[in-house]
Amino acid sequence: MSDATPSATAQGILQKFQLHGKTALVTGSATGLGAAIAIALAQAGAAVACHGNRRAAQDTADTITAAGGHAVALSADLAHTASPEALINHVTEALGQIDILVNNAGTIIRHEAVEFPLDDWMTVLQVNLTSVFQLSQLAAKGMLERGEGKIINIASLLSFQGGIRVPAYAASKGGVAQLTKALANEWAARNVQVNAIAPGYMRTDNTSALQADETRNRQILERIPTGRWGEPEDLAAAAVFLASSASNYITGAILNVDGGWLAR
Ligand code: NAP
Repeated sequence: MSDATPSATAQGILQKFQLHGKTALVTGSATGLGAAIAIALAQAGAAVACHGNRRAAQDTADTITAAGGHAVALSADLAHTASPEALINHVTEALGQIDILVNNAGTIIRHEAVEFPLDDWMTVLQVNLTSVFQLSQLAAKGMLERGEGKIINIASLLSFQGGIRVPAYAASKGGVAQLTKALANEWAARNVQVNAIAPGYMRTDNTSALQADETRNRQILERIPTGRWGEPEDLAAAAVFLASSASNYITGAILNVDGGWLAR
């Protein structure tokens, strides 16, 4: 029987999604989307460094370990320019190398644009954009040497839309989309793929106030073609795909996981 038989083909394609022997760093994985991504990467076989800000992402690491996976928990405040290098060194010591980097950590601060404090602007830009560049640059060094690597940036609907009272967030997430393409161009020939995922309205703590606001919740649901909030697992599945060799010919892409919001 040839390799083209249906059963052999199915096994072959599923094999491409597995991450056994790979190591990953997921920033902001104590909660929400990052936790779901870290757990999903571990389910696919990767050893995962679970990063948290205010505290190490120990609960996420414990969930992975309890299920028989391999995880370490660490913390770093990415609002400081020195943190990315310390974090990458810490992960490299713990896991040996970084094959998959998921830049998920993000923060949002709301003010009227006309009175947006510069300190808050700098914090949002540092956490959401500059640290993404620093972490990518540092992790890519090893990836480029080995001729293999995956970087996944978590963008936003506000990579495309402007939002209201969130100018720093919109600017940072627009920058994440452009940075994704810039890095993808430079590193594609060295077999390092850089892609982004743009989540729509996802059910996390970050959006709990919106979910609880009856009027806003109804308006949002009416606008989403799929008619429901996204679940963290919806995003995690996309992350496993972009972390795996199944996506080796995809780079510089921004994958919308938004229930159709941007298509409308
Ligand atoms: P979340 O639960 O608030 O997660 C954000 C994570 O980023 C937290 O783990 C947080 O850690 C970390 N973080 C915040 N400030 C940080 C800092 N200074 N240094 C290091 N880490 C920091 O929200 P989420 O919804 O899962 O968001 C995850 C990503 O998806 C973010 O980039 C967000 O912009 C993006 N996103 C979310 C949605 C949505 O609907 N939920 C939509 C579009 C985009 P601590 O809790 O320890 O501070």
